Amino acid sequence: MDILNGLNDGQREAVTTTEGFVRVIAGAGSGKTRALARRFAWLVMELGILPGSILCVTFTNKSAGEMQRRIHNLIGDNDTGIINTFHGFCLSVLQEEAHVIQYPKSFMVLDNADIDAMLRLIYEERGLSLRHMTFAAARDLIEMRKTLTEPDYYRALTALSPEPLRQRYEEAAAPEDIIFCGYLYQEKKCFGLDYNDLIKLTLHVFEDPDIRMKWQARLEYIMIDEFQDIDRLQYQLMTVLCGCHKNLFIVGDPDQTIYTWRGANVNYLLNFGKAFPNVKTILMTKNYRSTPQILAAANSLIAKNRLRVEKSLVSTLADGAPVMCLHAENPGAEAAWIAEEIKGLREKGAAFRDMTVLYRAHHVARAVEASLLKENIPYAVYSGAPFFERREIRDALAYLRMVAFRDDLSFLRVANVPRRNLGERRMKFLQERAVRDGCTLWEALLRTSEDEIFRGTHAGRFIALIEGLAADCESRPVSELLADILDASGYEEMLRTEGAQDRLDNLAELRQSVHEYEVTCGEEATLPGYLAHAALFAGGADADGPVDRVRLMTVHTAKGLEFPYVFLCGMNEGIFPSRKTRTLEGMEEERRLAFVAMTRARKGLFLSGAGGKNFDGSPRYPSRFLLDIDEGLLSFIRRPGDDLVTDAREYIAFSEHWLTRGAGPQLLSVGQRVRHPTFGEGAVLEVDRSRSAYLIRFDGLPTPRAISFRARLEAQLKS
Ligand code: ATP
Ligand code: MG
Repeated sequence: MDILNGLNDGQREAVTTTEGFVRVIAGAGSGKTRALARRFAWLVMELGILPGSILCVTFTNKSAGEMQRRIHNLIGDNDTGIINTFHGFCLSVLQEEAHVIQYPKSFMVLDNADIDAMLRLIYEERGLSLRHMTFAAARDLIEMRKTLTEPDYYRALTALSPEPLRQRYEEAAAPEDIIFCGYLYQEKKCFGLDYNDLIKLTLHVFEDPDIRMKWQARLEYIMIDEFQDIDRLQYQLMTVLCGCHKNLFIVGDPDQTIYTWRGANVNYLLNFGKAFPNVKTILMTKNYRSTPQILAAANSLIAKNRLRVEKSLVSTLADGAPVMCLHAENPGAEAAWIAEEIKGLREKGAAFRDMTVLYRAHHVARAVEASLLKENIPYAVYSGAPFFERREIRDALAYLRMVAFRDDLSFLRVANVPRRNLGERRMKFLQERAVRDGCTLWEALLRTSEDEIFRGTHAGRFIALIEGLAADCESRPVSELLADILDASGYEEMLRTEGAQDRLDNLAELRQSVHEYEVTCGEEATLPGYLAHAALFAGGADADGPVDRVRLMTVHTAKGLEFPYVFLCGMNEGIFPSRKTRTLEGMEEERRLAFVAMTRARKGLFLSGAGGKNFDGSPRYPSRFLLDIDEGLLSFIRRPGDDLVTDAREYIAFSEHWLTRGAGPQLLSVGQRVRHPTFGEGAVLEVDRSRSAYLIRFDGLPTPRAISFRARLEAQLKS
């Protein structure tokens, strides 16, 4: 097969310019990802480069999987090199260099739910409450503190023993210190690393010149997709990695930057030419994905962004149907219309799997789900992390982790699920014992299981269960192990007794995901490997595969993908754009997000919103993004009334006014100290989103005051 077949001139240039620094800047659906995949094949088949010498970075696990498939099809080889996300790549680096950071090769990767479980432990132990700080704010604090205390944080986490951290935790008095030291202690104790650590520690490991050289030499070619969303740490990492061969290929589209809120910075893409020598820039302007109708509507929307480099994008496809638009009477009617249209498409011969419903936030999906259920339309929610956040999934994974690591978190999660009479009192006993002996809860149980206090419990059975499974876990497939655990622990039995069929279905889905993992990894599949994979896999054990069903997902999840028919729903002010948008830059990011959503569609695009009232009694306005699109490019099924449009425009003009004034402050969190120009210093007691106000207790006032988000409050640095 000719690798250059079916590529345009720009793409060919991108594929064949293999040496040096190469940047592709091009619009949505212009074939950037196709060029990247072909370039991989070119390197391997034409130049004879070994797949293992190529690092190909994608943005999500889902797209990594997709890329693996594409490249496998192109080169027909199972050795597809390192195709991964930044986090996944760092995980393999740290596994290989585990000795440097004093971690075992198979350490635990912690996701947000794990972090929260640790925070819960710390809060309980030290009498903190969510009033001091929400878990979300605590997670931010931890991340920030890590950066601020950099050399020290590395030393603490990579020390031989967790003892010094425990001491610091016990001596800490201020809530922030308790949280930060407590968290590091918990991490070190269970040999866990969170996503942030993965990148930071990898950079730290690369400070060693020998290790750095080894990886730099290994990676002869580096390619990065979706470069517009790269953040500072990832950029640093990439800069280090290409230091030896200096072959770096990046592709991106500034109009699709949608992760600024998480630290992404499009300037790395825009200034790439200045940052690296002799950069070759390739532009591509043809769109191969969407009909002219879809593309025109999307272009008309993104043209309204002010902070943008203009770029034209022309469709190469034949005319299609007009973009449909509905402003329904209420959300129920909106959802019913979507189901109707889906049925209509199906009758005309489209498969359910060709149709995707996109939304800004998960809660919008509920009404749609209800109407799909009612109409008997099969569907699957691609919920990203939430699949792995479901109770039964976390329980099952905790059992697997018990077998692999016997860490405290998993112990607390499953020791008494199903019930083994290991309730609060006995747990407390174990916790005290663990502190006294400086050991894990599991070890504490081993030492005391014969004690009087465990009489009449199933502690012995629990020990036998875990030890029995751990004994031969290395020689058995993970799928078998999982099936055994769910059975022997009585967990599935418990769900059957509860009549929780959906939970049992989810467990079946989890088994499927284990199975897929085993197929992908072949002989290299291991239990710790699977656990790390599950913790990293933000795409969820989702519903790809042969089943024909409609897919539901957030726009963020849909990034980089394409679907024949797209329903973009919940196009209302306060939903999309999100009500949390506080700045002009934030609003432009929302608009880019809407642009990303629209440009996922190939043949048909359906936009919808609903009228009626919000729960606070205010009218539901159509989204400004609908009003941004030239009317002539939309075909309305039902338009919003003229009065509503007039009111909406007035509301939007007002909101734009204070967005441009920059009056929208960063959202403060509970516990944060602030200074008010008149009232002086105080602390945030509550964040009241429904009133867009903070409840603040000022040091100089006897009673708290509700202060608008818009007020000029200065956040104080904590001492
Ligand atoms: P996004 O910005 O959304 O990530 P992209 O630039 O990565 O988009 P691709 O996903 O690579 O675009 O391509 C979009 C669609 O166009 C795909 O279906 C792809 O197969 C097709 N395509 C890409 N290049 C060509 C080409 N030269 N000829 C025909 N079809 C093409
Ligand atoms: Mg792409």
